[in-house]
Amino acid sequence: VSTTLFGRKSDERSKQAFEQAKRVIPGGVNSPVRAFKSVGLTPVYMERGEGARVYDIDGNAYIDYVGSWGPLILGHAHPEVIDAVKSVAEKGTSFGAPTELETEMAKLVCERVPSVDLVRMVNSGTEATMSALRLARGYTKRSKIVKFEGSYHGHADSLLIKAGSGVATLGLPDSPGVPESTASHTITVPYNDLESVRLAFEKYGEDIACVIVEPVAGNMGVVPPLPGFLEGLREITREYGSLLIFDEVMTGFRVHYHCAQGLFGIEPDLTCFGKVIGGGLPVGAYGGKREIMEMIAPTGPIYQAGTLSGNPLAMAAGYTTLKLLTPDTYEQLERKAARLQAGFEENARKYGVAYTINRVGSMVCPFLRIGRLSISIRPAPPTSSGSKRILPRSWSLA
Ligand code: PLP
Repeated sequence: VSTTLFGRKSDERSKQAFEQAKRVIPGGVNSPVRAFKSVGLTPVYMERGEGARVYDIDGNAYIDYVGSWGPLILGHAHPEVIDAVKSVAEKGTSFGAPTELETEMAKLVCERVPSVDLVRMVNSGTEATMSALRLARGYTKRSKIVKFEGSYHGHADSLLIKAGSGVATLGLPDSPGVPESTASHTITVPYNDLESVRLAFEKYGEDIACVIVEPVAGNMGVVPPLPGFLEGLREITREYGSLLIFDEVMTGFRVHYHCAQGLFGIEPDLTCFGKVIGGGLPVGAYGGKREIMEMIAPTGPIYQAGTLSGNPLAMAAGYTTLKLLTPDTYEQLERKAARLQAGFEENARKYGVAYTINRVGSMVCPFLRIGRLSISIRPAPPTSSGSKRILPRSWSLA
């Protein structure tokens, strides 16, 4: 399969680059998905990107639907983002002391996300979820966490866990190196299955620090929350005094001006961010209610730190990106994603392929399947006002 060019002129230089990389980097890549193993190819080495297009080192051009796995909502090398990064870089790249840009960035996040009173910058989505878990555990003085099967929250030990056997059982390590004792504090339940969540709480409720959830699951293909699911999680966590953590690393500033929580009208206790808020530079963040966030050092006893956290370059890229995202951007995204979906549907019908397409805003995922019925679940598009009200949800059968 690896000899297939799929319309490319050549892949010789990419192949050579991969051979060189494999000598000094495990598997030749710095993140496993880049190895292209699941599609039976070797990696394409990029030279540059501009807007919606990327160009590889063999001179092939591509329309980029990956967008660096989410961060590049404005496309590659947006002139304003690049200018901001350049002008900050000229003054120095890191100080180990605060800069005003960090406060500006935090203000923007707090303004746009109503559930966030205070926000702490970190360097990746993994760091954000890992730190949010420590905070939830420290705040509630409980050890267990609930996560959902098929969700990915980064590679921290507590989150790299697969389901145990049976519903609402304790988890098992998903990777060598994750101790069983750590896995035993993670309870894994099926997504969109409130009954399993209730069972887990009936069994372990007094020891559950938090539920962490992707408000729109994006790591098992796109799976939107069923009506009532997120509301149910909010209710159950309140009932048992656990925290509700929205992992908005993928959905944050992607599905709506006010993130997924603005789209669905749910207020989590803590929110994790990544991807879009860095505008292509390494950034993550976690934030939430003042009372909880003040438990982090230096105001509180729960430790979390970072040499490069709030890095000026990353703040400049993130701040400029967020500033450029207006309610109108999300309308444009909605229109473009609907067009992409329509194209998938048209082609699937034309070639007699059975399909299901799930889409929430610009998160679009065609599932190819055997059978005839295709059900697509879509929330109604965001309105232009950027208001925080709950949007009506529509279900449609295609
Ligand atoms: N949470 C979600 C929902 C993600 O999709 C990801 C990464 O894809 C992460 C957390 C981890 O983020 P990072 O890769 O920046 O560590």
